[in-house]
Amino acid sequence: MTTFEIDPGRLFIGGQWREAADGARTEVVDPSRGAVVTTVAEAGAADVDAAVRAAREAFDSGRWSGLSGRERGRILYRVAELIRENADEIARLESLDVGKPITLAHAVDVTNAANDYEYFASLAYTLDGAQRETPLNALAYTRRGPLGVVAAITPFNFPLILAGSKIAPALAAGNTVVHKPADETPLSALYMAGLLQRAGVPDGVVNVVTGSGPVAGEALLRHPGVDKIAFTGSTAIGRHAASVAGENLKPVTMELGGNAAHIVFEDADLEKAVGAVIKGFVFNTGQFCMGGPRLLVARPVYATLLNILADAVPGVPVGDPRKPETVIGPMAAERHLRKVEEYVAIARKDGGRVVCGGERIELDGGYYYQPTVIADLPNDSRAVQEEIFGPVLTVQAFDTEDEAVALANSTPYGLASGVQTGDLARAHRVADRLQAGIVWVNDWAMLDPAVPFGGVKDSGFGREYGPEALAAYTKVKSVVVSLD
Ligand code: NAP
Repeated sequence: MTTFEIDPGRLFIGGQWREAADGARTEVVDPSRGAVVTTVAEAGAADVDAAVRAAREAFDSGRWSGLSGRERGRILYRVAELIRENADEIARLESLDVGKPITLAHAVDVTNAANDYEYFASLAYTLDGAQRETPLNALAYTRRGPLGVVAAITPFNFPLILAGSKIAPALAAGNTVVHKPADETPLSALYMAGLLQRAGVPDGVVNVVTGSGPVAGEALLRHPGVDKIAFTGSTAIGRHAASVAGENLKPVTMELGGNAAHIVFEDADLEKAVGAVIKGFVFNTGQFCMGGPRLLVARPVYATLLNILADAVPGVPVGDPRKPETVIGPMAAERHLRKVEEYVAIARKDGGRVVCGGERIELDGGYYYQPTVIADLPNDSRAVQEEIFGPVLTVQAFDTEDEAVALANSTPYGLASGVQTGDLARAHRVADRLQAGIVWVNDWAMLDPAVPFGGVKDSGFGREYGPEALAAYTKVKSVVVSLD
């Protein structure tokens, strides 16, 4: 064990820190060294039950749902302030836990988390209904209210942001929450539990149960006291979660896997496009659901672009996430590194030409992989069709706009997509035809809490961010008052 110890590293239930009922604990590994840095409590079904009961009691008491949206908004603004005041500590935790470069953790994770709480604080002021005109002799109006207890289940890659993208709108709408973070990356969730309490979120309104998916996650999914499931993770687990929710008739939002295409037309500004292409596949060490790992290039500029990538990509700084200049850190866990190695082997077997990279990096015992570009793969290769979730870019050529769109839409996923072109009409035309929840034109990963994102096809359903997200944590009631 190294020096780091999160205090208290226990479950947060009903405003109290406590050990798991059976005393179980689980190890947290620093992926930049492959070393255990601390342990946290590992929840079992009894702990999840206690957390849901605490959330239910808090909801039914009205100490959160009974506040006005404005009062809840004020507390959520305070959360945003506290995140900014503690930015260094939160970035350090996120970097340690996930292996994120510290610069990225600051600029993206912490900044966005604060922005998200602030955005949903402002939306808390807007929760209202509408009067409806009808031929009835009646006054008909709608009211919008919270759903109750929200189960938030989040993945390993953006622990802070993806927890906030659920907890902030859920709280803005007046719900209470039980959050289960990924077992590999639980630290910022625990930190945020304490921070939310300091900001004035009443006890029991947010509960955090660290633990494994098959035990704590499953217990939460199936708990009859849960009113909504907000899930972000892989398509495989999402499919399972959606089927359990279906059995129990619980509303769900599903933010699932992605495998986005990034299309570069011959009329694009290539220099600018290359920056976006590299950002698209190395961002967060490629562990980005909305990354752009499939590059589709118009044949007239295919060789040129490959040459530029071959020159530029090996120069992207890989290494110790604590160094401010690092752009690519380690993979978040050894199993993710092994998965990347397996996919690169598949790509080689399928005839892919490794333009650069293609090997793991031995450094400090961490889980590092070279940024890798692989050209000339057939479209049916699993390395093209499936989600690699590492710093690997596959590159394919196309001849026509129709072919580019067909290739882009040819995987089961539909989370994000991107177009590089100098032709405005083409940008809109192609954006319209791409099967994706978000399309970026002439850049990548432009994200803001006001802009909804989410998937189509196997990337899920429902939207996070924007007023759409707030609506997903509310229910509408109609009141019709006879005027006779
Ligand atoms: P994952 O394996 O599906 O896990 C996601 C969450 O589900 C974790 O908290 C996991 O717990 C939990 N879980 C596992 N089995 C469960 C069960 N039976 N019941 C309830 N919960 C269960 O995903 P991941 O590997 O952490 O994350 C990577 C995936 O997430 C990628 O596919 C990526 O594209 C996707 N993702 C999507 C978005 C989006 O917005 N669409 C954003 C980020 C990531 P454990 O960690 O303990 O297994």
